Amino acid sequence: ATAAEVIPTGGPVCHAVLFPFMSKGHTIPMLHLARLFLRRQISLTIFTTPANRPFITASLPASAAASIVELPFPHDIPEIPAGVESTDKLPSVDSLFPHFALATERIRPDFESALENLRPWPSFMVSDGFLWWTEDSAEKFGIPRLVFHGMSNHAASVSRAVAGDRLLFGPESDDELIAVTRFPGVRVCKSDFEETARTPDPEGPFYDFVMKAFGAPSRSYGYVMNSFHEFEPVFADHLNALGKQKYYSVGPLCLAEVDDVCNDKKEVVLAAKPAWIQWLDEKLWEGKSVLYVAFGSQAEISEEQLEEIARGLEDSEVTFLWVIRKGGGGLEERMKGRGMIVGEWVDQRGILGHVSVGGFLSHCGWNSVMEGVCAGVPMLAWPMMAEQPLNARMVAEEVNVGIRVEGSGRTGFVRRGALENAVRELMAGEKGKEVRRNAKEYAKKARKAMEEGNGSSWKTLNLLIDELSNKKE
Ligand code: UDP
Repeated sequence: ATAAEVIPTGGPVCHAVLFPFMSKGHTIPMLHLARLFLRRQISLTIFTTPANRPFITASLPASAAASIVELPFPHDIPEIPAGVESTDKLPSVDSLFPHFALATERIRPDFESALENLRPWPSFMVSDGFLWWTEDSAEKFGIPRLVFHGMSNHAASVSRAVAGDRLLFGPESDDELIAVTRFPGVRVCKSDFEETARTPDPEGPFYDFVMKAFGAPSRSYGYVMNSFHEFEPVFADHLNALGKQKYYSVGPLCLAEVDDVCNDKKEVVLAAKPAWIQWLDEKLWEGKSVLYVAFGSQAEISEEQLEEIARGLEDSEVTFLWVIRKGGGGLEERMKGRGMIVGEWVDQRGILGHVSVGGFLSHCGWNSVMEGVCAGVPMLAWPMMAEQPLNARMVAEEVNVGIRVEGSGRTGFVRRGALENAVRELMAGEKGKEVRRNAKEYAKKARKAMEEGNGSSWKTLNLLIDELSNKKE
């Protein structure tokens, strides 16, 4: 029997616990994973905090076999403004993130009381790698835990190869570009890693967080990766050869939004189109002419850099749809006629899938990379923080579905001319044609990986569920 055949289609196969980290970039793919479980008749309990619940409720079909349990978030952390329960709402992600992440451990007693009383008893738990302490809770109750790793196999492999288990910490060498000997052709530099942006102070909160979350050998069952084998086979295979835990590439998770677990499609069709989708509709006759510009939910961009982006986009003469999360006052009026600026939360996957969109200027958050690839939209890679510089290398050097914006990086500043050139090259140049072809090819492969029955990711997830159900017996 194939793995697909051993999943019964009758009543609930089993029950599972999900615990996403409190940021959109971590919650969204976990909720996509939830859909894949629901589709396989696995009922779910999703743990979160009160302020994060509405987003989770709204993201899942009302009829889903999922209950959501709220656990109070500690509101007496001196560094974190009271009421903030998500990194999206932190006034400064860069300096406050480690305090926030470390504070999540205070949820542990409530989590364990809720877990203890949970019925039906869960066969397994998937919790975010940033919630490292859930590993102890899972162990305490004998529940196999899967780590949800919101990064690529490439970033996980390269950072481990360079810096042992100190994931996100960089090479100690000062060399600008060093070869990663285990992966011929792969080169990284010190500034690709998080450490260089902060003081690598062993007494500091960031060091503390990284060592807690990634420094100790994992006792979890395995890792769930939001990727597909065909996208990064060398790195996926490498991770699986490392040790006892397997890395299960079950994505791209953004393709999980199929309507067989929900009947809310009709509502989507009937809902009024947001202004920016109507605007994209108007560009239909111009072909794939629009550059979508978005830097994710966390990035902080200086006013000076925003102004430079505006000039670069103007000079490139391309039509653009630019999502600005913070700042940028006055730009909207000035850029009228040249492009559209949106200051709200948008449906990014909907935008990338729109026929008028022909390019994506992105900070290379891993979800955005997967979403761009799935839409077959080539990227301009402008990494800013976390493992994004490694993702940018993946995009522009490994799989060749995008072009790196010169000068971009954790501590970089991009000049208008560099942006103008990159935009022109992507939208109209030879290199642009090449990366567009590649992006389209990978989009096909991504869909194939998620295909019911024979897709590599589909089979991997079934295999994983099968392993965990057998373990229970
Ligand atoms: N996103 C969205 N609308 C927005 C901003 C972000 O739908 O206005 C989604 C985006 O599609 C992606 C996630 O939020 O799924 C952001 O994750 P990513 O890893 O790209 O970046 P992060 O925000 O974690 O830096």
